[in-house]
Amino acid sequence: MLHKNQKIIDSVCTYCGVGCDIAALVEDGEIKKVYAKEDGKVSRGKLCIKGKEGWKYVYSPFRIKEARVKKSFFEANSEFFGTKKVFECTANSDYFVISYEDAYDAVAAKLKSTIQKHGGDSIAGVGGARTSCESSYSFQRFIRRAIGSPHIDNCARVCHSPSLAGLRRTVGEGAATNPFDDIFKAEFLLVIGSNTTEAHPIVANRVLDAVNAGTTLAVVDVREIQLSKKANFQLAIPYEANLMVLNMMAHVILKEKLYNREFLKKRVKGFEEFKAKILEDEFANPEFFAKVKGYESLALKIKEVARSYAKSRSMILWGLGITEHLDGSAAVSAIANLALMTGNIGKEGAGLMPLRGQNNVQGTCDMGCLPYFAPNYGVPEREGYKTQDMLEAAVKGEMKVLYNVGEDLSHIHANLNKVKKSLEAFEMIVTHDVIEADMTSIADVVFGVKSAYEKKGIYTNAERRLHLAQPLIECDLPDDWEVINEITKRLDSSLVFRSQDALWDEARSMISRYEGASYERLSQNNDGLQWPVTMDADTPRLHEKKFRTIDGIGDFYYEKYELRGHIKELLDSEMDGYWLTTGRTISHYNNASQTKAVDKLMSVYDKDVVLVSHEDCKKLDMSKPIVISSKYGKSAALTPKESKAVKKGTLYTTFHFSESKINYLFGDEGDKITKTSRFKAVKVSLLQ
Ligand code: SF4
Repeated sequence: MLHKNQKIIDSVCTYCGVGCDIAALVEDGEIKKVYAKEDGKVSRGKLCIKGKEGWKYVYSPFRIKEARVKKSFFEANSEFFGTKKVFECTANSDYFVISYEDAYDAVAAKLKSTIQKHGGDSIAGVGGARTSCESSYSFQRFIRRAIGSPHIDNCARVCHSPSLAGLRRTVGEGAATNPFDDIFKAEFLLVIGSNTTEAHPIVANRVLDAVNAGTTLAVVDVREIQLSKKANFQLAIPYEANLMVLNMMAHVILKEKLYNREFLKKRVKGFEEFKAKILEDEFANPEFFAKVKGYESLALKIKEVARSYAKSRSMILWGLGITEHLDGSAAVSAIANLALMTGNIGKEGAGLMPLRGQNNVQGTCDMGCLPYFAPNYGVPEREGYKTQDMLEAAVKGEMKVLYNVGEDLSHIHANLNKVKKSLEAFEMIVTHDVIEADMTSIADVVFGVKSAYEKKGIYTNAERRLHLAQPLIECDLPDDWEVINEITKRLDSSLVFRSQDALWDEARSMISRYEGASYERLSQNNDGLQWPVTMDADTPRLHEKKFRTIDGIGDFYYEKYELRGHIKELLDSEMDGYWLTTGRTISHYNNASQTKAVDKLMSVYDKDVVLVSHEDCKKLDMSKPIVISSKYGKSAALTPKESKAVKKGTLYTTFHFSESKINYLFGDEGDKITKTSRFKAVKVSLLQ
């Protein structure tokens, strides 16, 4: 029973790509509690610790509640500031506080001057995956139309861009094929390269419930994860072996004729060619593992997993353990190949599930915040630079301004020694954020904006489900799209949105996948709607009758594994040093800027630690901190922890806290197509 001053507001958790429904108890305009209702479509009545506690950062003293300008930028750019008043910023002595109107004027003046002197192509936009679809849509439109630059990108560059690339060329759509609840309808689940329990906990709950009810589970990872304990098949594989293992599964299915002839005949092309290539590929034969020291048992286990997958109604779930590699896109296509061979796609309980990371990375890509896709995955007038190319262009003097919406670029990208130097080369960096982050102490102009708990907006989760988030509390800061709109007004008044409704109507008219997702309809569907949303229906499952390729037919994509790194060392018996991989912990999210402002979350995990195998512990003094060193840089001193989960010669760490300097260890190597950084494998040594 609620008191008069209390209300319950339904909304959505905006931490991870699971996108759980939430309910908030609000009393006298303050959030008191966030929980999930028993009948929650995504949450199924449960939230992880971030969902329950993570909202508390909205009251943190680290919130940014004003516009700020860096003192050095203010002094060097007096022509854009004139007599505008500024005040000392108590939170950061490098900055002045400035009124939003004055900051809009100054940023717009600098943008105009840059366009006049160097052209629109000297300005780039990055970010958007943490904000709403409305803000992402307006951001790419601002960069492309108000500025006239093709250079727009978002943080999918460092996470799931390979899922988009690998799926589009095989099944025509870079998104999950089925709803999360189809996990209950599958007979067999393959979880590969996903630490689901930590990174997508509410999906992990479904996997565990399904396994308890009799579903077969295979877990393939470089280390043991929590789901491994419940797995029927637990495969600890060497580093950078995903493509090899997936091609081996295809090999078994082909060799033992476990493919679905009828499905192949009706729905897929290129089978014979694919079959010939796999069968003659020496790295696709599972027997290869018989000679890889410490991994010999995989030769048999891969065969068992392939058989079980092919003979069942099966789903494959994956995360960044697949995508953040040199062959991330190829591995995603290899996953799709398995589904195409066996007909495990386009039906209940059978399909492909990339577990997208950021809360709205799916939506932001749909909105067109990508250099090679306009809204709705259309062809842009001109292809722009990927984030890494923007940074390199700045060093060459070609790129002058970086406009960043909430992406902590100087923390989450790889090769940070290089990134930080590149950031210094910009004449102006503008950033939006809700809370202090690494970028908010680098940017020249910082706009404090509404958090997801304080605004209305649409977020698209990892199963293509659009949720309309509601403001839980009032906040007089602008939304991201409102800041962009104000600057647009000063550049080209014909592009201004009169209201959020007008913005969303325009976005829907440009994006057929969202056509029927009006505010009215979404507010009547608290469970959300899965795209494509037509005027009268939504789409829980993709590819039921035809694939979303141009001709409606699925297509195989084969790429051969290239022998390298860890596996090569194991074959050569030249194992020296360590292979490091990275991941998340349940109580923090990404750069932890929001979660580290919550005491309860910090009490669970307050620093990045390094997991070391039992054998390797003997070589170290575990009471002392260790520094990890690679050819690109060094970490800070970190705490080592003995763990059964990692194998000899391998290490695991989280990379939530910028002071740990983990991202300095990775270089420019990345996925061949998308440049997504190779965060899941780097050769390192340990210093004590
Ligand atoms: S699983 Fe993700 S969306 Fe769900 S409560 Fe946790 S952080 Fe929020």
